[in-house]
Amino acid sequence: MNDPTRAPQRVQVAIIGAGPGGSVAATTLAEAGHDVLLIEAGPHLPVDSAPHFRRDEMMQKYCNGGITPSFALSTSMAYLEGCCVGGGSEINRGLYQRTPDTVVETWRRDFHVDGITCETMVPHFEACEAVARVSPLRAPAPPSSLRLQEGANRLGWRCAEVPRLVTYDDKPSGKKQSMSATFLPRFLAAGGGLMPDTRVHRLRRIGGRWSISGTRRGRTLDIEADTIFVAGGAIRTPALLKRSGIRRHVGGSLRFHPMVKVVAQFPEEINLPGMPDPVHSVKEFEPRFSMGCSISAPPLLALTMAEHPDHMTEVDRHWRHMALYYVQSTGGIGSVHNVPGFRDPLVRVQFSRSDMAELAEGLKRLCECLFAAGAVTIYPGISGGVVLRTTGGVRGLPDTLRGNRATLSALHLFATCPMGERGDRCAVDSFGKVHGVDDLYLADASLLPSPTVVNPQGSVMAIAHRNALHFLERAAHGAAKPRSSDGRTLIARSNL
Ligand SMILES: Cc1cc2nc3c(=O)[nH]c(=O)nc-3n(C[C@H](O)[C@H](O)[C@H](O)COP(=O)(O)OP(=O)(O)OC[C@H]3O[C@@H](n4cnc5c(N)ncnc54)[C@H](O)[C@@H]3O)c2cc1C
Repeated sequence: MNDPTRAPQRVQVAIIGAGPGGSVAATTLAEAGHDVLLIEAGPHLPVDSAPHFRRDEMMQKYCNGGITPSFALSTSMAYLEGCCVGGGSEINRGLYQRTPDTVVETWRRDFHVDGITCETMVPHFEACEAVARVSPLRAPAPPSSLRLQEGANRLGWRCAEVPRLVTYDDKPSGKKQSMSATFLPRFLAAGGGLMPDTRVHRLRRIGGRWSISGTRRGRTLDIEADTIFVAGGAIRTPALLKRSGIRRHVGGSLRFHPMVKVVAQFPEEINLPGMPDPVHSVKEFEPRFSMGCSISAPPLLALTMAEHPDHMTEVDRHWRHMALYYVQSTGGIGSVHNVPGFRDPLVRVQFSRSDMAELAEGLKRLCECLFAAGAVTIYPGISGGVVLRTTGGVRGLPDTLRGNRATLSALHLFATCPMGERGDRCAVDSFGKVHGVDDLYLADASLLPSPTVVNPQGSVMAIAHRNALHFLERAAHGAAKPRSSDGRTLIARSNL
């Protein structure tokens, strides 16, 4: 294998970040015959290199080994990001939903995204689903998930199984359809170059080309590219753009799905090792908030029980009777800032009174649902150590979670560089090209203009596919035609 750090490299297209957005864009361009180098800060590991949602996986594949805190004057929020080839798709549960029609309509109406409608998005969802396949469970859902469904049914609320990016053809337990198992093998087969363990620090425009500087396994590295797609995710893409002097509408409009969790205890065992991941989602209150069941391994239960130190031993004794549930909304805004001398950006978040009232209402509804499902004790993840033992106790929960009342976290991050034609709020055009900057595109969750309400990976992939096809059309008509890289491309195909 060539050592990609030894020689100067020139490529037609460099894509920075190998998450769902970067992987779909890279595969689409490479299969169309473009010379593409995909650069990823994290390692290239098989999807099953560590048990899912366990410490080893967090150390291998998450940014900062797991949770990163944000900063706030009042309520703060922790967030999680993948850092490996495949990005978030390697570590997430693969719950898959297409972008709801109402969200697509918001993007068209409020951000003036050209040519986007529910109908025009369908072929892009279908194209991505043909590669990364989506299936409902073939076996019964785990008891923790079924409890949520039972509670919702008793209250007459809409609840549905969310299908997953998992296939059940070869293994009854399923095979995860992460990027490393689906798009990336196709990318490599099409001649794409993959450079893991390589962090890009800065982009510079020199003589009508892009110069990319970074480090690979401790050594500095420079790559030249005709065109760059940045796909580092909603936090790291704006940080890289700002470090590179590109600041217009970049980083100031972070959105997310803030989440509050509870631990619910049932009389019977509901948390059984070896069961499939939970899949049910209560949809009755969307788009205001939705509810679901999380992976409930004992260390994750203990994390939420941190608000209940007096009851921590309950987890050791009763974890098989306990499961984690969450309510998540779309409230709150944030911003991404670089701090001189620090590698990671600083994220600030803020929530309005109504954002927190909405989450508080969601929390009450979630507890109602779990009591309707037969829960005997609920430990909400809010300060004050309130423990609920009856439905009546739900009324005693606060009407707002303002201040430091809630322990919030987020897995779904968006909108730091919104796409669209609105000059007063959009960083990139309707197809991902950075406004006013030549040959620079984005291809990740940063350009989704607003929260997707549902699980976002399907939206990230479909929009990346749509925009990559548009880039190819532009290139075919000469508007963004990548120039020849004059035969000096030196790219090593990565091996596992
Ligand atoms: C624990 C968890 C569970 C989730 N569950 C679900 C779910 O079930 N369903 C769902 O739809 N969504 C889920 N999500 C969200 C989903 O994974 C993300 O929306 C999706 O991965 C975003 O894709 P992306 O391409 O924008 O960025 P990412 O997946 O974040 O990928 C960005 C990649 O870019 C790399 N990178 C960043 N900066 C640089 C740089 N400077 N140089 C080189 N590389 C760089 C990063 O290392 C990373 O690998 C979950 C997320 C997490 C963290």
